[in-house]
Amino acid sequence: MAVLICGGAGYIGSHSVKYFLERGEDVVVLDNLLTGHRSAVPESVPFYEADVRDARAMDAVFAAHPIEAVIHFCACSLVGESVEEPLKYFNNNVYGMQVLMESMVRAGVTRLVFSSSAAVYGEPERVPIREEDETVPTNPYGESKLMMERMMRWVGQRHGIRYVSLRYFNVAGAWEDGSIGEDHRNETHLVPIILQVPLKQRSHLTVFGDDYPTPDGSCIRDYVHVKDLADAHLLALNYLRNGGESEIFNLGSGEGYSVKEMLTAARAATGQDIPVRIGPRRVGDPARLVAESQRARRVLGWMPRITRMEDIIASAWNWHRSHPEGYGS
Ligand code: UDP
Repeated sequence: MAVLICGGAGYIGSHSVKYFLERGEDVVVLDNLLTGHRSAVPESVPFYEADVRDARAMDAVFAAHPIEAVIHFCACSLVGESVEEPLKYFNNNVYGMQVLMESMVRAGVTRLVFSSSAAVYGEPERVPIREEDETVPTNPYGESKLMMERMMRWVGQRHGIRYVSLRYFNVAGAWEDGSIGEDHRNETHLVPIILQVPLKQRSHLTVFGDDYPTPDGSCIRDYVHVKDLADAHLLALNYLRNGGESEIFNLGSGEGYSVKEMLTAARAATGQDIPVRIGPRRVGDPARLVAESQRARRVLGWMPRITRMEDIIASAWNWHRSHPEGYGS
């Protein structure tokens, strides 16, 4: 039996594919390659360049392979873009989930692991954030992820699909040997942007606001290494294989790092000075997002292994300096 990894050519998807293969899992990958990279997936893996919204293509994949579970990474995931083009997000993310689940129902596939996001919480009432806390998304991206979770709940109840929804906080890092990593055309994420400075692709980092109510004034986030995230997906799959009920888990380290602390870690990891300027706040950025992720540790046995920020950034640096133009290098 095989695991279908939708969005397996993207950043988190490709690390999960590699992680699953190393642990002896049989994997099939589907990706529309709009943001994913074909070369991020080994040639030996069955690969379908197709969109989850294409019902015929999905049915054909389920017909061609004995699929026992789906790991669903496909999504548009840029917060700012989602505000500008909300319909793109509801179509790609929400309608994509609908077509995928319709196809799973037809094929009789009953296990689903889903990439959700801390964006479902919006501006948190308390930190660390717990899974049962209120979900009030503040942008269409977070709203689309919440709608996808709700769809899984209702469809799962009716059609016997059990799911695990993994609400990621901030993801960073790369495979340690630098073979695969993060490559977004319009990069918005902090770690790759910081590393563009020592790569000489950018003159300085702009810190988006240093007047937040945090110890050093810059925003605090909870960063997890991408391989530890991949591990959580495998644990979630095994949880479902062992008969686990549908469940939602936060995935974070439980530790918050400010933008300025990330900068210090990046200077140490790269051995280079990284000039900085203070800019205005970015609209919609909460001051502090940190996960309470005891449930994933307790129920799934998840234990993040790469937890020193310097190590997380060093792995990303290894990828970026060996692939300064990403997969186009
Ligand atoms: N950030 C920053 N400068 C940048 C990019 C990001 O100061 O050029 C900050 C951003 O305001 C946030 C943190 O870095 O507080 C993480 O941002 P990212 O976009 O990586 O993730 P998010 O938390 O928005 O999902």
